[in-house]
Amino acid sequence: MATREDIRERLEELREKVRYHNRRYYVEDSPEISDAEYDALYRELESLEAKNPDLITPDSPTQRVGAEPLEEFEEVRHAIPMLSLSNARKTEDLYEWDARIRRLLGEEEASRLRYVTELKIDGLAVSLRYENGVYTLGATRGNGIVGEDVTANLRTVRSIPARLSEDELKAPEVLEARGEVYIPLEDFEELNRRQEAEGKRPFANPRNAAAGSIRQLDPKIAASRPLTIFLYGVGESSLEFESHSESLDTLSKYGLRVNPYEVHDDIESVVEECRRWAKKRESVGFQVDGVVVKVDSLEQQRALGTVQKAPRWAIAYKFEPLAGRTKVKEIFVHVGRTGALTPQAVLEPVNVGGVTISRATLHNEDYIKEKDILVGDTVVVERAGDVIPQVVRPVVEERSGDEYAFEMPKECPVCGEPVFRPEGEAITRCVNARCPAQALEHIIHWASKDAMDIEGLGEKLATKFFDLGLIRDPADIYELEAEQLVPLEGFGEKSAENLIRAIERSKEQPFDRVLYALGIRHVGAVTAQLIAERFSGEDLLKGMEVEKLAEIEGIGEVVAKAVVEYFELEDNRALVERLMKLGLNFGSVEQKPAEGPLAGKRIVITGTLSQPRSEIAELIERAGGTVTSSVSRNTDYVLAGEEAGSKLERASSLGVPVLDEAAFEELLSG
Ligand code: NAD
Repeated sequence: MATREDIRERLEELREKVRYHNRRYYVEDSPEISDAEYDALYRELESLEAKNPDLITPDSPTQRVGAEPLEEFEEVRHAIPMLSLSNARKTEDLYEWDARIRRLLGEEEASRLRYVTELKIDGLAVSLRYENGVYTLGATRGNGIVGEDVTANLRTVRSIPARLSEDELKAPEVLEARGEVYIPLEDFEELNRRQEAEGKRPFANPRNAAAGSIRQLDPKIAASRPLTIFLYGVGESSLEFESHSESLDTLSKYGLRVNPYEVHDDIESVVEECRRWAKKRESVGFQVDGVVVKVDSLEQQRALGTVQKAPRWAIAYKFEPLAGRTKVKEIFVHVGRTGALTPQAVLEPVNVGGVTISRATLHNEDYIKEKDILVGDTVVVERAGDVIPQVVRPVVEERSGDEYAFEMPKECPVCGEPVFRPEGEAITRCVNARCPAQALEHIIHWASKDAMDIEGLGEKLATKFFDLGLIRDPADIYELEAEQLVPLEGFGEKSAENLIRAIERSKEQPFDRVLYALGIRHVGAVTAQLIAERFSGEDLLKGMEVEKLAEIEGIGEVVAKAVVEYFELEDNRALVERLMKLGLNFGSVEQKPAEGPLAGKRIVITGTLSQPRSEIAELIERAGGTVTSSVSRNTDYVLAGEEAGSKLERASSLGVPVLDEAAFEELLSG
């Protein structure tokens, strides 16, 4: 029999754990455990608290939404709290919820009850504020009461219009639309391929990738990520609606991308809909973790109200986590383009949610040690983010004693040269630039869409050419001739010529693309552009100091070092010189003049000004400055117009100089 003291202790232990994982998930966008594992902890806490209500503390994670906003961002106080949702794990929970609602509403109201169902998108909840049709503020949910100002980052999301469409309706004074920012699965896979190609850690799942992209201080990063949005509700608004479905239709008319919905007359039909989606959740092309059911009438919603951290009028029917059990047959090592050695588990094939899994990534040596995974172990596998299989944990009770620990090879399994694990890094690498594994992956990366974008030269064809010995490095691509291709299986004269033409066309790609295509460690598309704006290929070949590169805003020392080291290696220099001779672009790309009167200055714009913000932002950028959304110690100036609010206050509390329009003009004219 557990004593009260035992219970109190267990409660504190659970709260500590949940708080820790909340921080990893909401603040750092880098969860350590799967959602199913987290949910189990959370449920235990919730049910123990329910049995011992007098032991509930106000700071328990069950009493609040999400986590505190990050300090680097300016705070946004939500006019109407952004809440979480209560969960239904079984269809019985839905019936119970329906019965409770009917009881609360009373018989007459209940006869008019209608439900709306929408898919529950697993992304990041945000709010978009439009004033007189113009997008003015974007915020994260944060702790539900206070979120983070991510206006500039959300502005880069192409499906978020800067202005509401007025084709059908006049724009309202205020409209706050709420929704979920997410990354479609295909784009997510591509993004992770890119991350790995750049020697960066892949994202655990699309949700973390989306959340991590929006909660970045530099909007260029968000702009480079394939983010999109589905709106599913209205917060503060000068419009009045009668029903939730009406509000969604209105958002749609304003040109916002609205989550499709269905209306139901009874819970039976809702349950059917949930079952249908559970079966075809794979088909939607983005990560969904359930179906949200909402009472349609807003008057009824108001009557039902909210409890704790979720409204009573909505519930999320959660799909079963996609998990299964299987055996690790073997752990082998894959060598990527940057030479990273990634251990992968070969599994006894197991069906998880309709997909057969026979492989799972184990990330690196430390991960395997931390999770205590042995070759021969029975393990729990989950389809994290519903796409990438993950080994969650070994089932230690089922060990027979024949299992053994994995050891990282001392030599590259592809080229046989010794491998290295730099101090302080988790990744072991093959540093032999002539390693065939790296060469092929490099060619694939070179031709890919974000790099040189050579139409038709995908992974399959590149592998074929590589195996046939036609191309060994990217420069060889430009020496291919149509006559060599015509005799190959799958080629005719026309297709051969088309490919050669696509290759020729790719020579016109600007230097930043070429630099990115070179596949230098840590140099992604954004970084490549920053460098290409300042330096040419010649500059880099001539030899460059790390400090000089690191002076570029947005380039850190690690990146600068990787670039300098790249151009020091003889093989790399030879490749670059050959590419130059072949006519590829190595001249620096045109960009903001670094010497403008605002060179290197970070400026925040706030309040109402005599010109539209976008025009002012352009002036600043043309003068070499950068516009950022929130005031921090790194801000050089705050340009404040009429009715400037909290940003102005923050500027004065941090001692950041504030400019009015006249002072700004003066600064601009040098
Ligand atoms: P939730 O994600 O279960 O539900 C609330 C959210 O659903 C809303 O804020 C909104 O963003 C979203 N949503 C998506 N589609 C919607 C729609 N059509 N209508 C309304 N809302 C919609 O609740 P939560 O509080 O954000 O987080 C709990 C989730 O986070 C759980 O799934 C949990 O497993 C996971 N989590 C995991 C870890 C971990 O360490 N793995 C840690 C913390 C939380």
